[in-house]
Amino acid sequence: MKLLHDPRGARVAVTGGGKTGAAVARTLLRLGARVEVHDDATADKVAAGLQKHGLDPALVTVVAGGLSAEVLSGADLIVLSPGVPRAHPALAAALPRVPCVNELELGYAQLARGPAGAAGVVVLAITGTNGKSTTTTMAGAIARARDPHAFVGGNLGTPLCAAIEDGLVAGTADAPRLLVVELSSYQLETIAHLPVDAGAVTNLTPDHLDRYPSVDAYYQAKARLFALVKERGGVTLNARDPETRRCLWSAVPGRAIPCHFDVSPGDHGVEITTGGLRIARAGDVPVTVELANPRIVGHHNRQNAAAAAALAVLTGLDAATVQSGLDSYAGIAHRLERVGTHNGVTWWNDSKATNVDAAVTALRSFAPVADGEGVHLIAGGLGKGAPYAPLVDASRGRVVAVYTIGADAPAIAAAYADIVDVVESGDLRRATAAAAQRARPGQHIVLSPACASFDQFRDYGHRGDEFRACFAAHAAGEVDDADDQRGHR
Ligand code: ADP
Repeated sequence: MKLLHDPRGARVAVTGGGKTGAAVARTLLRLGARVEVHDDATADKVAAGLQKHGLDPALVTVVAGGLSAEVLSGADLIVLSPGVPRAHPALAAALPRVPCVNELELGYAQLARGPAGAAGVVVLAITGTNGKSTTTTMAGAIARARDPHAFVGGNLGTPLCAAIEDGLVAGTADAPRLLVVELSSYQLETIAHLPVDAGAVTNLTPDHLDRYPSVDAYYQAKARLFALVKERGGVTLNARDPETRRCLWSAVPGRAIPCHFDVSPGDHGVEITTGGLRIARAGDVPVTVELANPRIVGHHNRQNAAAAAALAVLTGLDAATVQSGLDSYAGIAHRLERVGTHNGVTWWNDSKATNVDAAVTALRSFAPVADGEGVHLIAGGLGKGAPYAPLVDASRGRVVAVYTIGADAPAIAAAYADIVDVVESGDLRRATAAAAQRARPGQHIVLSPACASFDQFRDYGHRGDEFRACFAAHAAGEVDDADDQRGHR
């Protein structure tokens, strides 16, 4: 699409005046477009937001107080921020008349204008139900082992346009040649101008059924990744995931090179099998990578590492680069993050586990109590209505006590009644104090709440930060271990 490469003089509507919208507007202004920023917030708020994200609001036309179908329909191009749903009535009315792209497509088009052209930019894309951000970050660590300027983002981190405006300009020495991007199913519904060299689907489980008419419709949205894959590009799928096998294996296009990733059960190695086909430049020999990094915890994270390694191999990176990237992986904050060890007890911040499934996955990463371990689980917050029975099941043999916090504490206490000790703690500070007092060396204190955080915190990040602060206070000896145990039953 010509406008994507050269929007000079065009009237471009940017929806959303946040971090991404401001970055998009900066790119468009540099390219000579006339930019409107559309947002539901008031004009003052939008202007302040743009300013905060490095854009002088006087350089654009701010259309505040709600998206208008009429105004949007007059644009030559609409650039969507990820936070604005295409189902927004004003957008839906304008879309049949006005071409619409997302931020990544605009950023990619600019990089592809560099001297090496599109061939000089390699794109690795990740989607799936769970593990997208983790796999993207792991693949990013591998990409950066090869090229320190590799871009890692998409659904997370810095918008591509912001990275470009802040110096990663096409044609300069710093321009990224490797892009590692996370794509949500929402983004995949519309994205068309992002040629993918290698794509991964981490796994498939029913999700977002509020938005899709059926499970298969949701899976098909994920399969749209395949449409972006270049001729002789690679596709890597989870060899052990039944839903992937059922719905995606047969959908891989003939022009793509398939590669199934797999984690050898019971050991710490990752074997990437080729499904009998040659992997680009890697031959038929399986690439074996050792996962010695203590930040790659649990079977699910080994699967994510396998997906990331497979993507790298498909784009021609060698085993040594994959190994050094995975060795340098620093983990992601609030996702089963090892906070530290105090008095022989290791503290884990999994505040991102805002639903039951995520907390179950975290618990399965810990050895059964018979191995001398044992988890003191802090759970609770704003429940999402899902039953806690799967959490209780995953806790059997692993969890030695549960410390409940927040609004759903009574429901969690009821689910665990007569199964393990429940300490009704009320808030995180009291929960950590009680857990620290009871935990023995070799055991773990795990914040994996299975609930949203908004009843007691700004967001899950705030909750995780508080947990870290509690650890720091204990490690520094600032907390009296004789803190009260009221509520224990
Ligand atoms: P996403 O970006 O897809 O939401 P994340 O990488 O942010 O996924 O991980 C979120 C949570 O999903 C993790 O805390 C963990 O509980 C769970 N998870 C991560 N990877 C996997 C996986 N491969 N399979 C199942 N669950 C996973």
